[in-house]
Amino acid sequence: MSPTSSPQQTAATAIAPGRLFISGAWHDSTDGARMDVISPATGSKITDVAKATTTDVDAAVAAAREAFDGGQWSGLSPRERGRILLKVHDLMRERVEDLAQAESQNVGKPIMLARVVDVNNAAETFEYYATLGEQLDGAVRQTPGNTHAVVRREPVGVVAAITPFNFPLILSSSKIAPALLAGNTIVHKPASDTPLSALLMAEILRDAGVPDGVYNVITGAGSELGDHLVTHPDVNKIAFTGSTDIGAHVAELASRHLRPVTAELGGNAANIVFADANLDQAVGAIIQAFVFNTGQFCMAGPRLLVERPLYDQLLAILQEAVPGVPMGDITDPDTVIGPLASRDQLAKVSQLVTESVAAGGRVITGGAAVEGEGFYYQPTVIADVANDNPAVVNEVFGPVLTVQAFDTEDEAVALANSVPQGLAAGIQTSNLARAHRVSARLEAGIVWVNGWALMDPAVPFGGVKVSGWGRENGPEGLANYYRSKSVVFNLQE
Ligand code: NAD
Repeated sequence: MSPTSSPQQTAATAIAPGRLFISGAWHDSTDGARMDVISPATGSKITDVAKATTTDVDAAVAAAREAFDGGQWSGLSPRERGRILLKVHDLMRERVEDLAQAESQNVGKPIMLARVVDVNNAAETFEYYATLGEQLDGAVRQTPGNTHAVVRREPVGVVAAITPFNFPLILSSSKIAPALLAGNTIVHKPASDTPLSALLMAEILRDAGVPDGVYNVITGAGSELGDHLVTHPDVNKIAFTGSTDIGAHVAELASRHLRPVTAELGGNAANIVFADANLDQAVGAIIQAFVFNTGQFCMAGPRLLVERPLYDQLLAILQEAVPGVPMGDITDPDTVIGPLASRDQLAKVSQLVTESVAAGGRVITGGAAVEGEGFYYQPTVIADVANDNPAVVNEVFGPVLTVQAFDTEDEAVALANSVPQGLAAGIQTSNLARAHRVSARLEAGIVWVNGWALMDPAVPFGGVKVSGWGRENGPEGLANYYRSKSVVFNLQE
C-alpha cells in the first residue's frame, strides 16, 4: 500500500540529550549552544545535542594529537588493538536495540532495516577489521651488498572522519574500525542532522577499552566546523563521505596542505536489465535498487535501462508492484520505506520530480509527497525520460526511478556511463559471458550482477569520476590509514 496520507507513528523510545565527547569525557560546547535533532517520521524534536564551536574542534584535535603522540594506542600491537575491536563488535551486538532506535528515529529508517542492515553491518565491520592485523606487518626487502631494508607500516596520525546523514553508523564504522586497527586517533564529525549513533559509539568504544582521546566526537554544523577541521595543522588525514560538491571543496582545502583525503561521494547508478534476465529476480533487484533506505543510498540504482523487447512488460509489472511495497510507520517491523531524512531532502526530491515531468517524463506510479506529518514521498517511477532529463543527470537521493529503453549492449553501456558519477552499477542477465563483458566496461567502483546492494565489509567500494577517491572496506580500506616507512640498515661494521 502506498499511503497518500502519512501513517500514525507508534510512540518512540526517549533518547537523552547529547554532548561532545572529547578526551574520554562529555562536554558542553564552549558557548553552550545546542541544536535540535528532528524525527523525519513526525517532523518533531527527538532530543538536542551540543553545537560545537571551532574552539571545541581545537580541543578535540588536541586530545587526538596528545593520545596519538602518547602512544597508548599506536604502541599496542595490531593483535591487541584487534582484540579491542572485537569487544566493540560484542558491545554493539549487546546494544543493538539502543543503536537501532537511535538510527531509526534520527534518520527515519524502518526499525527492521536499522537492526538487520545498519547495526549488523556496522558491527560486522569491527569484527572484520579485528582480524586484519597481519596486513600491518610490513616487509623485508632484498637489497644489494651489506644492507638490509625493512618497510614498516605506520599509522598516519590524527584522522578527521566526516560522515553523511544517510548511513551514519555503517559509514562511520568503515572509517573508525580500520583507522583504529592501524593505530590512528580520530576526530569524528557526524552529519549535522544525524549525530545520535556517533554519540552511542563513543560510549561503546570507551567501554570496550579504547583509551581516552583516541576517539572524539564533535556535533555541529559542517558548514561552520568543516573548514576548520580539514585545515587544522594537527590533522594528518581526512576521511570524507558526502556529496560531490562538499567533497570537492574538502579535497581542494586539504590539497593546499598536501593532506591525504579519501572522498566517497555522490552516485547515480544505472541498473541494466537485458531481455534474457530472470524476470522475478530482476524485478526484486530493480525495486531494491531505488527504494532501499528510501532511495537515500549513494549506491542506489535510480536509472533503469531496459532492453526494448522487455520495456512495456516491465513498466506494467512495476506499476503494479511498486505501490505494494510497505511504506509507513518506521516502528512497524514490516515497513520497508520510511520518510526522507529531512524537510530539505523532501523539498529537493519533490522539485526534481516536478522538473523531470516538465522535461517530458511520464509518471507510472507515485509522483507526490505524502500529505500529513513527516517527510514521506511516494515511491515513484518515471518512464520515457530522455538522457538529459533532470532526474537522469542529477543524483535524486529519494525513492525515484527513471526508465529508459536501449537496443544494443553498446547503447546500454554508453547510457550507463553517460553521467558524471561512477559509483555503482547493476546488470540483470542470465548470460554469464555478457555479465563479464559488460561489467568490465562500466565506469563504477562496484558492479552487482543479478541483484543489488550485495554488501560485505570484506568487499571494497568507492567511486570513479566525480564519485570520489579511494576505497572503503576490505584490505583496501585499511590501506587508507597506514603509510610505509623504509628503514635501511648498513650492515658493514
Ligand atoms: P554533505 O556533503 O552535505 O555532508 C557530508 C558531511 O560533510 C556532513 O558531516 C556535513 O556536515 C559535512 N560538511 C558540510 N560542509 C562541510 C565543509 N565545508 N567542510 C567539511 N565538511 C563539511 O552530504 P550529505 O547530504 O550528508 O550526504 C548525502 C551525499 O553523500 C550524497 O551525495 C551521497 O551520494 C553521498 N554519499 C556517498 C557515499 C559513498 O560511499 N560514496 C556514501 C553515502 C553518501
